[in-house]
Amino acid sequence: MDAVTGEETLGFQTEAKQLLHLMIHSLYSNREIFLRELISNASDAIDKLRFESLSDSSLMEEDTELAIRVELDGDAKTITVSDNGIGMSRDEVVEHLGTIARSGTAEFLASLTGDQQHDSQLIGQFGVGFYSSFIVADRVEVHSRRAGAEAGEGVHWESTGEAEFTVAGLDKPQRGTSVILHLKKDCEEFADSWRVRSIIKKYSDHISVPVMMEKPPAPAEDEDSQAEKKEEPAAAPEFETINEATALWTRSRSDISDEEYTEFYKHISHDFEEPLKWSHNRIEGKLEYTSLLYIPGRAPFDLWNRDTSRGLKLYVQRTFIMDDAEQFLPLYLRFIKGVVDSNDLSLNISREILQQDPAVESMRAALTKRVLDMLGKMAKAKKGDRYAVFWKEFGQVLKEGPAEDFSNKEKIAGLLRFSTTHTDREDQDQSLQDYLGRMKEGQEKIFYVVAENFKTAKNSPHLEVFRKQGIEVLLLSDRVDDWLMNHLLEFDGKHFQDVARGELDLGELSEEEKKSREELAKASASLVERLQQVLDEQVQEIRASTRLTESPACLVVGEHDMGSQMRRILEAAGQKVPDSKPILEVNPGHPLLEKLDAEPDEERFADLANIVFDQALLAEGGQLSDPAAYVSRLNKLLLELSN
Ligand code: ADP
Repeated sequence: MDAVTGEETLGFQTEAKQLLHLMIHSLYSNREIFLRELISNASDAIDKLRFESLSDSSLMEEDTELAIRVELDGDAKTITVSDNGIGMSRDEVVEHLGTIARSGTAEFLASLTGDQQHDSQLIGQFGVGFYSSFIVADRVEVHSRRAGAEAGEGVHWESTGEAEFTVAGLDKPQRGTSVILHLKKDCEEFADSWRVRSIIKKYSDHISVPVMMEKPPAPAEDEDSQAEKKEEPAAAPEFETINEATALWTRSRSDISDEEYTEFYKHISHDFEEPLKWSHNRIEGKLEYTSLLYIPGRAPFDLWNRDTSRGLKLYVQRTFIMDDAEQFLPLYLRFIKGVVDSNDLSLNISREILQQDPAVESMRAALTKRVLDMLGKMAKAKKGDRYAVFWKEFGQVLKEGPAEDFSNKEKIAGLLRFSTTHTDREDQDQSLQDYLGRMKEGQEKIFYVVAENFKTAKNSPHLEVFRKQGIEVLLLSDRVDDWLMNHLLEFDGKHFQDVARGELDLGELSEEEKKSREELAKASASLVERLQQVLDEQVQEIRASTRLTESPACLVVGEHDMGSQMRRILEAAGQKVPDSKPILEVNPGHPLLEKLDAEPDEERFADLANIVFDQALLAEGGQLSDPAAYVSRLNKLLLELSN
């Protein structure tokens, strides 16, 4: 088969097929967005051409007026979006329009439920792009030719949006891409000039490339003259620019409406939803640059994918340089979308050079600060509680901050939100400032407990004494929490203290309590000794507890040992973790322990002791090393009961 002119029929990748189907059905209520998506792609293609022609000016091919054209044919019922941008080769067409390269797509599709409302929310998160054409068209043609290629190397792609598409060779003198939509019967409104103009104004005003349409015919004087005109050979149509066509961030803030900011966000982020907040700044001085940063309202489906693209769109003196310039923000702010336009960087800067450039380093510090300030402001403004939305979507990512960004640790800590025993609710809505404000007199530390999930944290036996004394404890149960607390260490001069770690000291709060417990400990020395003999293999130490009021026992981590949540995460990831046994703390006042103390039969004592240990492990969400042995011991006791 001739690689250039031959026609080939190919199947869509499975994911592309599923996505197409879904999109056509779930986005039907918002059909006009297809135009935004196509114009957005065309504008990206022109940006790419501009960039590539910096190093190879022949790519411009005498065709230097970069523009997007939208043409309508009321008779054929088509709408065509053309650009003279970078274009695509045959292989690129097949790859870009036949597959969905983004990692995690299969998982994303698996998360769809078939419930339209729910799914259309999700699809917005995915970003639909080119495929949105099929919302309004039952047949789509793409004509494309890569910049720099021969006119004869054009490609014709066509599909009805079902299982297959065809590709064939095409003679295409003009560089770039045209997307021709054959409108569905009930979508013919999109061949109407006024309708289309208003859509372009609405969604694409901020696109820096001119979006052009044919000038509407001058109003006819009377019916006859109109009819006459039709007979004349058609003059070359005159085009006019519909959109504002200046890069949005170069305009002054006061001239830009919220709608324009929002639409620009949707263009760069491929998100359907509105952003929560943005910050637009021009910096002058040693370094000159403009930044426009957005906080999205929703996490993308692939936020947790390691190889997901992140970062800002980089421009140098208005010229697009690259997408996903990740050097301008730290990893824990990877959810931020936006643009940075520098006057200082070189036009042919590469990713590698970006990494070492001191100017980039100081821009990064300033942009990081800007984002943290934006979040701080949002957290303070209670209106509509956007910060709660932010926290729900991105709080987990922000929690990586203290480990990554030492210099902003305190600031990040102030932005964190927690569940605590003050509310006992799963919503993480309490700040450390809130906690400090409620600290008891004489309390010197910020207490926290880490567990597998919220319930386990909330019901942890370690909290008993705290609840009794009305001391607030942070309830942590997110995967990153142990990691976070390893780096946080202190806030506003107050140290953090894991309530399940080391000896418990409530400061001056509980002198009396302490005394009575010390006496208890003395009294229970022989019990502890006996337990130690039975459980020696499993525990590092056994001691009388000052934490428990209701439970018989709990496990405590040694002062310098790894926390149990961290241990479980590392073990699950197949990592070797240093051996360290827990400390078993028992509550000598508990009836079960009293019973144990009085048990003369050594075998029964051993059974009971093991059960007490296993239960302490279970209560903190741990896994028994020998569950069958636990069950059989317990059953033995149950049978004795019923005898
Ligand atoms: P996205 O724009 O999110 O990457 P799309 O499905 O819209 O996803 O497009 C897929 C790819 O097809 C783009 O990344 C781009 O490489 C290519 N493409 C789409 N439209 C054009 C165009 N007008 N000119 C050149 N390439 C295009």
